[in-house]
Amino acid sequence: MDADKKSLPVAVIGAGPIGLAAAAHLLERGLEPVVFESGATAGAAIEQWRHIRLFSPWRFNLDDAALRLLEPTGWESPRLTALPYGGELIDQYLAPLAATPEMSSRLQTGSRVLAVTRQGMDKTHTRSRDTTPFIVRVEHTSGEVRDHVVAAVIDASGTWSTRNPLGTSGLPAIGELKAAHRVSSPLPDVVGRDRAAFAGRRVLVVGAGHSAANTLINLADLAKEEPETRILWAVRGASAEKVYGGGDADGLPARGMLGSRLRRLVEDGRIQLHTGFGISSLTESEGGVTVTSGDGRAVVTDVVVPCTGFRPDLEMLRELRLNLDPAVEAPMELGPLIDPEFHSCGTVPPHGAKVLAHPEKDFYIVGMKSYGRAPTFLLATGYEQVRSVAAALAGDHVAADTVHLELPETGVCSSGAGTSCDVPAASSAAEGIEEASGCCGTPEPVLIGIPTGLAHGRSGAN
Ligand SMILES: Cc1cc2nc3c(=O)[nH]c(=O)nc-3n(C[C@H](O)[C@H](O)[C@H](O)COP(=O)(O)OP(=O)(O)OC[C@H]3O[C@@H](n4cnc5c(N)ncnc54)[C@H](O)[C@@H]3O)c2cc1C
Repeated sequence: MDADKKSLPVAVIGAGPIGLAAAAHLLERGLEPVVFESGATAGAAIEQWRHIRLFSPWRFNLDDAALRLLEPTGWESPRLTALPYGGELIDQYLAPLAATPEMSSRLQTGSRVLAVTRQGMDKTHTRSRDTTPFIVRVEHTSGEVRDHVVAAVIDASGTWSTRNPLGTSGLPAIGELKAAHRVSSPLPDVVGRDRAAFAGRRVLVVGAGHSAANTLINLADLAKEEPETRILWAVRGASAEKVYGGGDADGLPARGMLGSRLRRLVEDGRIQLHTGFGISSLTESEGGVTVTSGDGRAVVTDVVVPCTGFRPDLEMLRELRLNLDPAVEAPMELGPLIDPEFHSCGTVPPHGAKVLAHPEKDFYIVGMKSYGRAPTFLLATGYEQVRSVAAALAGDHVAADTVHLELPETGVCSSGAGTSCDVPAASSAAEGIEEASGCCGTPEPVLIGIPTGLAHGRSGAN
Protein backbone atom coordinates (compact mmCIF):
# COMPACT_ATOMS: atom_id res chain seq x y z
CA MET A 1 0.00 0.00 0.00
CA ASP A 2 1.40 3.42 -0.91
CA ALA A 3 2.74 5.58 1.90
CA ASP A 4 0.44 8.49 1.01
CA LYS A 5 -2.63 6.32 1.43
CA LYS A 6 -1.61 5.03 4.85
CA SER A 7 -3.57 7.73 6.66
CA LEU A 8 -6.77 6.26 5.22
CA PRO A 9 -8.48 3.23 6.76
CA VAL A 10 -8.66 -0.22 5.20
CA ALA A 11 -12.24 -1.32 4.58
CA VAL A 12 -13.20 -4.83 5.60
CA ILE A 13 -16.52 -6.01 4.18
CA GLY A 14 -18.30 -8.38 6.56
CA ALA A 15 -17.90 -9.11 10.27
CA GLY A 16 -17.90 -12.88 10.00
CA PRO A 17 -15.00 -14.82 11.52
CA ILE A 18 -12.70 -13.94 8.63
CA GLY A 19 -13.61 -10.24 8.46
CA LEU A 20 -13.04 -9.81 12.20
CA ALA A 21 -9.75 -11.73 11.97
CA ALA A 22 -8.70 -9.47 9.09
CA ALA A 23 -9.37 -6.42 11.25
CA ALA A 24 -7.37 -7.92 14.13
CA HIS A 25 -4.38 -8.55 11.85
CA LEU A 26 -4.61 -5.06 10.36
CA LEU A 27 -4.53 -3.56 13.85
CA GLU A 28 -1.42 -5.56 14.71
CA ARG A 29 0.18 -4.16 11.58
CA GLY A 30 -0.59 -0.60 12.63
CA LEU A 31 -3.24 -0.18 9.94
CA GLU A 32 -6.66 1.24 10.68
CA PRO A 33 -9.58 -1.07 9.77
CA VAL A 34 -13.19 -0.07 9.30
CA VAL A 35 -15.49 -3.08 9.23
CA PHE A 36 -18.84 -2.78 7.46
CA GLU A 37 -21.36 -5.47 8.44
CA SER A 38 -24.80 -5.60 6.85
CA GLY A 39 -26.33 -7.56 9.72
CA ALA A 40 -27.29 -6.26 13.13
CA THR A 41 -24.39 -8.06 14.81
CA ALA A 42 -21.08 -9.72 14.00
CA GLY A 43 -21.52 -13.25 12.65
CA ALA A 44 -24.89 -12.40 11.10
CA ALA A 45 -24.60 -15.15 8.46
CA ILE A 46 -23.69 -17.80 11.03
CA GLU A 47 -26.66 -16.60 13.06
CA GLN A 48 -28.79 -18.22 10.33
CA TRP A 49 -27.24 -21.60 11.04
CA ARG A 50 -26.60 -21.30 14.75
CA HIS A 51 -28.38 -24.65 15.27
CA ILE A 52 -25.76 -26.51 13.18
CA ARG A 53 -22.70 -28.03 14.80
CA LEU A 54 -19.35 -27.31 13.18
CA PHE A 55 -17.29 -30.30 12.19
CA SER A 56 -13.97 -28.73 13.09
CA PRO A 57 -13.03 -28.37 16.75
CA TRP A 58 -12.48 -25.02 18.44
CA ARG A 59 -8.72 -25.05 18.04
CA PHE A 60 -9.09 -24.65 14.27
CA ASN A 61 -11.83 -22.04 14.53
CA LEU A 62 -9.94 -19.32 16.41
CA ASP A 63 -7.62 -16.76 14.86
CA ASP A 64 -4.34 -15.95 16.61
CA ALA A 65 -4.54 -12.16 16.27
CA ALA A 66 -8.16 -12.25 17.46
CA LEU A 67 -7.06 -14.26 20.50
CA ARG A 68 -4.44 -11.64 21.28
CA LEU A 69 -7.25 -9.07 21.45
CA LEU A 70 -9.48 -11.32 23.52
CA GLU A 71 -7.05 -12.63 26.09
CA PRO A 72 -6.47 -9.34 28.00
CA THR A 73 -10.25 -8.98 28.44
CA GLY A 74 -10.46 -12.02 30.70
CA TRP A 75 -12.09 -14.05 27.94
CA GLU A 76 -12.27 -17.72 28.73
CA SER A 77 -11.23 -20.05 25.98
CA PRO A 78 -13.63 -22.86 25.17
CA ARG A 79 -12.22 -26.37 25.34
CA LEU A 80 -10.19 -26.62 22.18
CA THR A 81 -11.15 -30.17 21.32
CA ALA A 82 -14.89 -29.52 21.48
CA LEU A 83 -17.04 -29.06 18.39
CA PRO A 84 -19.06 -25.84 18.70
CA TYR A 85 -22.47 -25.13 17.29
CA GLY A 86 -22.69 -22.10 15.02
CA GLY A 87 -24.42 -20.31 17.91
CA GLU A 88 -21.53 -21.09 20.23
CA LEU A 89 -19.02 -19.79 17.70
CA ILE A 90 -20.91 -16.49 17.90
CA ASP A 91 -21.62 -16.37 21.63
CA GLN A 92 -18.24 -17.60 22.84
CA TYR A 93 -15.95 -16.07 20.23
CA LEU A 94 -17.32 -13.63 17.65
CA ALA A 95 -19.52 -11.57 19.97
CA PRO A 96 -16.80 -11.11 22.65
CA LEU A 97 -14.29 -10.29 19.90
CA ALA A 98 -16.63 -7.71 18.36
CA ALA A 99 -17.12 -6.22 21.83
CA THR A 100 -13.42 -5.58 22.50
CA PRO A 101 -12.76 -1.82 22.55
CA GLU A 102 -10.35 -2.17 19.62
CA MET A 103 -12.96 -3.88 17.47
CA SER A 104 -16.20 -2.24 18.57
CA SER A 105 -14.87 1.22 17.74
CA ARG A 106 -14.11 0.07 14.19
CA LEU A 107 -17.19 -2.03 13.51
CA GLN A 108 -20.21 -0.52 11.77
CA THR A 109 -23.15 -2.93 11.90
CA GLY A 110 -26.31 -2.37 9.87
CA SER A 111 -24.03 -1.17 7.09
CA ARG A 112 -24.42 -2.94 3.76
CA VAL A 113 -21.74 -2.40 1.16
CA LEU A 114 -23.43 -1.70 -2.15
CA ALA A 115 -20.38 -1.20 -4.35
CA VAL A 116 -16.63 -0.68 -4.44
CA THR A 117 -14.77 1.43 -6.95
CA ARG A 118 -11.76 3.77 -7.30
CA GLN A 119 -12.31 7.41 -6.38
CA GLY A 120 -13.23 9.38 -9.47
CA MET A 121 -12.57 6.59 -11.94
CA ASP A 122 -14.52 3.73 -13.42
CA LYS A 123 -13.09 0.38 -14.41
CA THR A 124 -11.72 1.64 -17.73
CA HIS A 125 -9.37 4.25 -16.22
CA THR A 126 -5.79 3.07 -15.91
CA ARG A 127 -3.64 6.16 -15.25
CA SER A 128 -2.79 6.55 -11.52
CA ARG A 129 -5.20 3.76 -10.76
CA ASP A 130 -2.95 1.94 -8.31
CA THR A 131 -2.34 5.05 -6.21
CA THR A 132 -5.97 6.25 -6.16
CA PRO A 133 -8.01 5.49 -3.02
CA PHE A 134 -11.07 3.28 -3.15
CA ILE A 135 -14.64 4.36 -2.57
CA VAL A 136 -16.85 1.97 -0.65
CA ARG A 137 -20.51 2.85 -1.03
CA VAL A 138 -22.44 1.82 2.07
CA GLU A 139 -26.13 1.83 2.89
CA HIS A 140 -26.58 2.34 6.63
CA THR A 141 -29.63 1.24 8.62
CA SER A 142 -30.96 4.78 8.71
CA GLY A 143 -31.35 4.44 4.93
CA GLU A 144 -28.54 6.92 4.38
CA VAL A 145 -26.09 5.96 1.62
CA ARG A 146 -22.52 7.21 2.07
CA ASP A 147 -19.29 6.90 0.12
CA HIS A 148 -16.33 6.03 2.35
CA VAL A 149 -12.82 6.77 1.10
CA VAL A 150 -10.36 4.02 1.99
CA ALA A 151 -6.84 2.94 1.12
CA ALA A 152 -7.54 -0.74 0.51
CA VAL A 153 -10.45 -3.18 0.58
CA ILE A 154 -10.70 -6.69 1.98
CA ASP A 155 -13.94 -8.36 0.91
CA ALA A 156 -14.87 -10.97 3.54
CA SER A 157 -18.60 -10.89 2.83
CA GLY A 158 -19.05 -14.66 2.47
CA THR A 159 -21.58 -16.31 0.17
CA TRP A 160 -24.48 -17.05 2.50
CA SER A 161 -26.80 -14.43 1.01
CA THR A 162 -26.42 -15.72 -2.56
CA ARG A 163 -27.51 -19.34 -2.77
CA ASN A 164 -27.52 -21.20 -6.05
CA PRO A 165 -30.90 -21.28 -7.76
CA LEU A 166 -33.15 -24.33 -7.89
CA GLY A 167 -33.04 -24.45 -11.69
CA THR A 168 -30.69 -26.97 -13.23
CA SER A 169 -28.70 -24.72 -15.58
CA GLY A 170 -27.46 -22.20 -13.05
CA LEU A 171 -30.49 -20.00 -13.71
CA PRO A 172 -33.55 -19.77 -11.50
CA ALA A 173 -36.22 -22.26 -12.55
CA ILE A 174 -39.07 -20.62 -14.41
CA GLY A 175 -41.40 -19.19 -11.76
CA GLU A 176 -38.82 -19.60 -8.98
CA LEU A 177 -38.64 -15.91 -8.17
CA LYS A 178 -42.42 -15.57 -8.14
CA ALA A 179 -42.68 -18.53 -5.79
CA ALA A 180 -39.97 -17.16 -3.48
CA HIS A 181 -42.30 -17.08 -0.49
CA ARG A 182 -42.55 -20.88 -0.78
CA VAL A 183 -38.76 -21.28 -0.64
CA SER A 184 -37.09 -21.40 2.78
CA SER A 185 -33.56 -20.46 3.80
CA PRO A 186 -30.90 -23.03 2.92
CA LEU A 187 -30.54 -24.50 6.42
CA PRO A 188 -33.79 -23.94 8.31
CA ASP A 189 -34.00 -25.00 11.94
CA VAL A 190 -36.98 -27.27 11.32
CA VAL A 191 -37.18 -28.64 14.84
CA GLY A 192 -36.45 -25.31 16.56
CA ARG A 193 -36.75 -21.71 15.48
CA ASP A 194 -38.46 -22.41 12.15
CA ARG A 195 -40.60 -25.32 13.29
CA ALA A 196 -43.96 -23.63 12.65
CA ALA A 197 -43.18 -23.25 8.95
CA PHE A 198 -42.59 -27.01 8.57
CA ALA A 199 -44.73 -28.85 11.11
CA GLY A 200 -47.57 -30.75 9.45
CA ARG A 201 -46.68 -29.48 6.01
CA ARG A 202 -45.39 -30.94 2.74
CA VAL A 203 -41.69 -30.14 2.48
CA LEU A 204 -39.54 -30.69 -0.61
CA VAL A 205 -35.79 -30.78 0.07
CA VAL A 206 -33.70 -30.18 -3.06
CA GLY A 207 -30.06 -31.26 -3.29
CA ALA A 208 -27.73 -34.09 -2.38
CA GLY A 209 -25.21 -32.51 -0.09
CA HIS A 210 -24.79 -32.42 3.64
CA SER A 211 -27.36 -29.66 4.07
CA ALA A 212 -29.99 -31.77 2.38
CA ALA A 213 -29.07 -34.82 4.45
CA ASN A 214 -29.07 -32.81 7.67
CA THR A 215 -32.43 -31.20 6.92
CA LEU A 216 -34.03 -34.50 5.90
CA ILE A 217 -32.97 -36.23 9.10
CA ASN A 218 -34.25 -33.32 11.17
CA LEU A 219 -37.53 -33.33 9.26
CA ALA A 220 -37.87 -37.03 10.02
CA ASP A 221 -37.48 -36.17 13.72
CA LEU A 222 -40.12 -33.46 13.34
CA ALA A 223 -42.47 -35.90 11.60
CA LYS A 224 -42.32 -38.21 14.62
CA GLU A 225 -43.98 -35.48 16.68
CA GLU A 226 -46.00 -33.96 13.85
CA PRO A 227 -47.14 -36.99 11.84
CA GLU A 228 -48.88 -34.89 9.18
CA THR A 229 -45.47 -33.65 8.01
CA ARG A 230 -44.65 -35.11 4.57
CA ILE A 231 -41.05 -35.23 3.45
CA LEU A 232 -40.17 -35.14 -0.24
CA TRP A 233 -36.62 -35.16 -1.59
CA ALA A 234 -35.49 -34.29 -5.12
CA VAL A 235 -32.03 -35.06 -6.47
CA ARG A 236 -30.75 -34.53 -9.96
CA GLY A 237 -28.74 -37.73 -10.11
CA ALA A 238 -30.06 -41.16 -11.02
CA SER A 239 -29.78 -42.33 -7.40
CA ALA A 240 -29.01 -41.06 -3.91
CA GLU A 241 -26.29 -43.67 -3.35
CA LYS A 242 -23.60 -41.05 -2.99
CA VAL A 243 -25.48 -39.40 -0.16
CA TYR A 244 -25.93 -42.68 1.63
CA GLY A 245 -22.18 -43.26 1.51
CA GLY A 246 -20.64 -46.59 2.33
CA GLY A 247 -22.75 -47.51 5.36
CA ASP A 248 -20.72 -49.69 7.74
CA ALA A 249 -17.82 -49.72 5.29
CA ASP A 250 -17.70 -45.94 5.05
CA GLY A 251 -14.28 -44.42 5.75
CA LEU A 252 -16.09 -41.85 7.88
CA PRO A 253 -18.17 -43.76 10.41
CA ALA A 254 -20.42 -40.81 11.17
CA ARG A 255 -21.12 -40.27 7.51
CA GLY A 256 -21.83 -43.96 7.17
CA MET A 257 -24.28 -43.86 10.06
CA LEU A 258 -26.08 -40.81 8.80
CA GLY A 259 -26.21 -42.20 5.28
CA SER A 260 -27.59 -45.51 6.55
CA ARG A 261 -30.24 -43.69 8.53
CA LEU A 262 -31.25 -41.65 5.52
CA ARG A 263 -31.39 -44.78 3.37
CA ARG A 264 -33.68 -46.47 5.90
CA LEU A 265 -35.99 -43.47 6.01
CA VAL A 266 -36.30 -43.57 2.23
CA GLU A 267 -36.75 -47.36 2.13
CA ASP A 268 -39.41 -47.18 4.85
CA GLY A 269 -41.28 -44.63 2.78
CA ARG A 270 -40.93 -41.90 5.37
CA ILE A 271 -39.02 -39.81 2.86
CA GLN A 272 -40.30 -39.86 -0.71
CA LEU A 273 -37.27 -39.69 -2.99
CA HIS A 274 -37.46 -38.36 -6.56
CA THR A 275 -34.29 -39.12 -8.52
CA GLY A 276 -33.30 -37.65 -11.88
CA PHE A 277 -35.37 -34.63 -10.88
CA GLY A 278 -33.76 -31.55 -12.44
CA ILE A 279 -36.14 -28.70 -11.66
CA SER A 280 -37.40 -26.67 -14.61
CA SER A 281 -40.31 -24.71 -13.15
CA LEU A 282 -42.32 -23.73 -10.09
CA THR A 283 -45.98 -22.85 -10.41
CA GLU A 284 -48.22 -21.59 -7.68
CA SER A 285 -51.13 -23.96 -7.29
CA GLU A 286 -54.01 -23.88 -4.88
CA GLY A 287 -52.64 -24.45 -1.43
CA GLY A 288 -49.09 -25.05 -2.56
CA VAL A 289 -46.50 -24.88 -5.30
CA THR A 290 -46.04 -27.38 -8.12
CA VAL A 291 -42.42 -28.16 -8.82
CA THR A 292 -41.85 -29.66 -12.26
CA SER A 293 -38.82 -31.54 -13.54
CA GLY A 294 -37.31 -31.25 -17.02
CA ASP A 295 -38.96 -34.54 -18.02
CA GLY A 296 -42.41 -33.35 -16.96
CA ARG A 297 -42.86 -34.99 -13.54
CA ALA A 298 -44.55 -32.81 -10.94
CA VAL A 299 -44.41 -32.65 -7.16
CA VAL A 300 -46.79 -30.51 -5.14
CA THR A 301 -45.43 -29.10 -1.91
CA ASP A 302 -45.95 -26.34 0.64
CA VAL A 303 -42.30 -25.44 1.21
CA VAL A 304 -39.10 -25.98 -0.78
CA VAL A 305 -35.75 -26.18 1.06
CA PRO A 306 -33.00 -25.21 -1.39
CA CYS A 307 -29.85 -27.16 -0.49
CA THR A 308 -28.21 -26.16 -3.74
CA GLY A 309 -24.97 -24.53 -2.58
CA PHE A 310 -23.76 -20.94 -2.80
CA ARG A 311 -22.05 -18.53 -5.17
CA PRO A 312 -20.25 -15.21 -4.58
CA ASP A 313 -22.00 -11.87 -5.06
CA LEU A 314 -19.80 -10.21 -7.68
CA GLU A 315 -22.20 -7.42 -8.57
CA MET A 316 -20.85 -5.03 -5.94
CA LEU A 317 -17.34 -5.51 -7.37
CA ARG A 318 -18.34 -4.65 -10.92
CA GLU A 319 -16.14 -1.52 -11.16
CA LEU A 320 -13.02 -3.36 -10.03
CA ARG A 321 -10.51 -5.20 -12.18
CA LEU A 322 -10.79 -8.78 -11.04
CA ASN A 323 -9.05 -11.90 -12.22
CA LEU A 324 -11.36 -14.79 -11.45
CA ASP A 325 -11.23 -18.44 -12.40
CA PRO A 326 -13.87 -18.79 -15.10
CA ALA A 327 -15.34 -21.94 -13.57
CA VAL A 328 -15.15 -21.53 -9.82
CA GLU A 329 -15.20 -17.70 -9.58
CA ALA A 330 -12.33 -17.75 -7.10
CA PRO A 331 -9.19 -15.65 -7.62
CA MET A 332 -7.53 -17.05 -10.75
CA GLU A 333 -4.61 -18.81 -9.11
CA LEU A 334 -6.74 -20.27 -6.35
CA GLY A 335 -9.45 -21.63 -8.64
CA PRO A 336 -7.67 -24.76 -9.88
CA LEU A 337 -6.54 -25.58 -6.34
CA ILE A 338 -10.12 -25.84 -5.06
CA ASP A 339 -12.16 -26.74 -8.15
CA PRO A 340 -14.68 -29.30 -6.88
CA GLU A 341 -14.20 -31.23 -10.15
CA PHE A 342 -10.68 -32.10 -9.07
CA HIS A 343 -10.07 -31.09 -5.48
CA SER A 344 -10.31 -33.58 -2.71
CA CYS A 345 -10.20 -32.91 0.99
CA GLY A 346 -6.91 -31.74 2.38
CA THR A 347 -5.15 -30.97 -0.84
CA VAL A 348 -5.44 -27.15 -0.80
CA PRO A 349 -2.00 -25.75 -0.07
CA PRO A 350 -1.84 -22.78 2.30
CA HIS A 351 -2.06 -19.55 0.37
CA GLY A 352 -2.02 -15.84 1.01
CA ALA A 353 -1.85 -12.41 -0.59
CA LYS A 354 0.04 -13.50 -3.69
CA VAL A 355 -2.47 -16.14 -4.74
CA LEU A 356 -5.40 -13.92 -3.75
CA ALA A 357 -4.18 -10.83 -5.62
CA HIS A 358 -6.18 -9.21 -8.44
CA PRO A 359 -5.06 -6.71 -11.09
CA GLU A 360 -6.78 -4.21 -8.77
CA LYS A 361 -3.93 -3.40 -6.40
CA ASP A 362 -4.73 -3.48 -2.66
CA PHE A 363 -8.03 -5.27 -3.17
CA TYR A 364 -8.53 -8.83 -1.89
CA ILE A 365 -11.38 -11.30 -1.62
CA VAL A 366 -10.88 -13.56 1.41
CA GLY A 367 -12.78 -16.13 3.45
CA MET A 368 -15.69 -18.17 2.15
CA LYS A 369 -16.15 -15.76 -0.76
CA SER A 370 -12.57 -16.36 -1.92
CA TYR A 371 -13.58 -19.95 -2.73
CA GLY A 372 -16.22 -18.70 -5.14
CA ARG A 373 -18.56 -21.58 -5.92
CA ALA A 374 -16.32 -24.23 -4.36
CA PRO A 375 -17.77 -25.56 -1.10
CA THR A 376 -14.65 -26.63 0.76
CA PHE A 377 -13.55 -23.49 2.60
CA LEU A 378 -12.15 -23.83 6.13
CA LEU A 379 -11.81 -21.11 8.76
CA ALA A 380 -8.20 -22.10 9.40
CA THR A 381 -7.42 -21.42 5.73
CA GLY A 382 -9.12 -18.04 5.92
CA TYR A 383 -7.21 -16.97 9.02
CA GLU A 384 -3.94 -17.61 7.21
CA GLN A 385 -5.26 -15.70 4.17
CA VAL A 386 -5.94 -12.58 6.22
CA ARG A 387 -2.67 -12.78 8.17
CA SER A 388 -0.86 -12.74 4.83
CA VAL A 389 -3.06 -10.02 3.28
CA ALA A 390 -2.57 -7.70 6.28
CA ALA A 391 1.18 -8.23 6.04
CA ALA A 392 1.11 -7.45 2.31
CA LEU A 393 -0.89 -4.25 2.85
CA ALA A 394 1.60 -3.20 5.52
CA GLY A 395 4.44 -3.76 3.05
CA ASP A 396 5.91 -6.79 4.86
CA HIS A 397 6.23 -8.97 1.79
CA VAL A 398 8.43 -11.55 3.48
CA ALA A 399 5.75 -12.25 6.08
CA ALA A 400 3.04 -12.07 3.41
CA ASP A 401 4.75 -14.66 1.26
CA THR A 402 5.69 -17.03 4.07
CA VAL A 403 2.39 -18.82 4.20
CA HIS A 404 1.86 -21.71 6.52
CA LEU A 405 -1.12 -23.57 7.78
CA GLU A 406 -0.76 -25.82 10.73
CA LEU A 407 -3.15 -28.65 10.25
CA PRO A 408 -2.33 -31.86 12.03
CA GLU A 409 -1.83 -35.02 10.03
CA THR A 410 -5.17 -36.33 11.13
CA GLY A 411 -6.99 -33.25 10.25
CA VAL A 412 -9.28 -30.41 10.85
CA CYS A 413 -12.59 -31.98 10.31
CA SER A 414 -14.23 -34.66 12.18
CA SER A 415 -17.38 -35.95 10.65
CA GLY A 416 -19.77 -34.21 12.98
CA ALA A 417 -22.86 -32.26 12.21
CA GLY A 418 -23.08 -29.42 9.81
CA THR A 419 -20.48 -28.87 7.18
CA SER A 420 -20.35 -26.47 4.33
CA CYS A 421 -19.64 -29.21 1.87
CA ASP A 422 -21.48 -32.15 0.56
CA VAL A 423 -21.00 -34.69 3.20
CA PRO A 424 -23.98 -35.63 5.24
CA ALA A 425 -23.59 -34.78 8.87
CA ALA A 426 -24.94 -36.53 11.88
CA SER A 427 -25.84 -35.59 15.38
CA SER A 428 -22.75 -35.91 17.48
CA ALA A 429 -24.44 -37.77 20.27
CA ALA A 430 -25.03 -40.63 17.91
CA GLU A 431 -21.41 -40.76 16.88
CA GLY A 432 -19.48 -40.50 20.07
CA ILE A 433 -18.13 -37.17 18.97
CA GLU A 434 -17.39 -34.85 21.79
CA GLU A 435 -20.19 -32.55 22.75
CA ALA A 436 -19.25 -28.90 22.68
CA SER A 437 -20.06 -28.58 26.31
CA GLY A 438 -19.45 -32.17 27.28
CA CYS A 439 -16.50 -33.50 29.19
CA CYS A 440 -15.45 -36.78 27.75
CA GLY A 441 -14.29 -38.39 24.56
CA THR A 442 -12.29 -36.77 21.85
CA PRO A 443 -13.43 -35.61 18.46
CA GLU A 444 -12.99 -38.05 15.68
CA PRO A 445 -10.20 -36.57 13.62
CA VAL A 446 -10.52 -38.09 10.25
CA LEU A 447 -8.96 -36.03 7.57
CA ILE A 448 -7.62 -32.66 6.65
CA GLY A 449 -10.06 -30.19 5.18
CA ILE A 450 -13.73 -30.62 4.48
CA PRO A 451 -14.53 -33.95 2.94
CA THR A 452 -15.86 -33.45 -0.54
CA GLY A 453 -16.82 -37.04 -1.09
CA LEU A 454 -20.25 -36.52 -2.58
CA ALA A 455 -20.84 -35.25 -6.06
CA HIS A 456 -17.44 -33.63 -5.92
CA GLY A 457 -18.69 -31.29 -3.26
CA ARG A 458 -21.47 -29.84 -5.30
CA SER A 459 -24.81 -29.72 -3.60
CA GLY A 460 -26.67 -28.78 -6.69
CA ALA A 461 -25.11 -31.31 -9.02
CA ASN A 462 -25.90 -34.52 -7.23
C1 LIG B 1 -23.49 -24.90 7.92
C2 LIG B 1 -22.03 -24.58 7.79
C3 LIG B 1 -21.12 -25.24 8.59
C4 LIG B 1 -19.75 -24.95 8.49
N1 LIG B 1 -18.88 -25.61 9.28
C5 LIG B 1 -17.55 -25.31 9.22
C6 LIG B 1 -16.61 -25.96 10.08
O1 LIG B 1 -16.94 -26.82 10.87
N2 LIG B 1 -15.29 -25.62 9.98
C7 LIG B 1 -14.85 -24.69 9.09
O2 LIG B 1 -13.65 -24.42 9.09
N3 LIG B 1 -15.71 -24.08 8.25
C8 LIG B 1 -17.04 -24.37 8.28
N4 LIG B 1 -17.92 -23.75 7.43
C9 LIG B 1 -17.39 -22.92 6.34
C10 LIG B 1 -16.99 -21.48 6.70
O3 LIG B 1 -15.91 -21.49 7.60
C11 LIG B 1 -18.13 -20.65 7.25
O4 LIG B 1 -19.08 -20.46 6.24
C12 LIG B 1 -17.70 -19.26 7.77
O5 LIG B 1 -18.83 -18.62 8.30
C13 LIG B 1 -17.07 -18.40 6.68
O6 LIG B 1 -16.65 -17.21 7.27
P1 LIG B 1 -16.59 -15.81 6.45
O7 LIG B 1 -16.20 -14.79 7.47
O8 LIG B 1 -15.79 -15.98 5.24
O9 LIG B 1 -18.08 -15.57 5.95
P2 LIG B 1 -19.44 -15.37 6.77
O10 LIG B 1 -19.40 -16.06 8.08
O11 LIG B 1 -20.52 -15.71 5.82
O12 LIG B 1 -19.46 -13.82 7.10
C14 LIG B 1 -19.68 -12.85 6.11
C15 LIG B 1 -20.30 -11.62 6.77
O13 LIG B 1 -20.43 -10.60 5.77
C16 LIG B 1 -21.69 -9.97 5.93
N5 LIG B 1 -22.04 -9.40 4.62
C17 LIG B 1 -22.47 -10.05 3.52
N6 LIG B 1 -22.65 -9.18 2.49
C18 LIG B 1 -22.33 -7.95 2.98
C19 LIG B 1 -22.33 -6.64 2.40
N7 LIG B 1 -22.68 -6.42 1.12
N8 LIG B 1 -21.95 -5.59 3.19
C20 LIG B 1 -21.59 -5.79 4.48
N9 LIG B 1 -21.59 -7.02 5.07
C21 LIG B 1 -21.94 -8.08 4.32
C22 LIG B 1 -22.61 -11.08 6.40
O14 LIG B 1 -23.74 -10.56 7.07
C23 LIG B 1 -21.69 -11.88 7.31
O15 LIG B 1 -21.75 -11.46 8.65
C24 LIG B 1 -19.28 -24.00 7.54
C25 LIG B 1 -20.23 -23.35 6.73
C26 LIG B 1 -21.59 -23.63 6.84
C27 LIG B 1 -22.57 -22.91 5.96
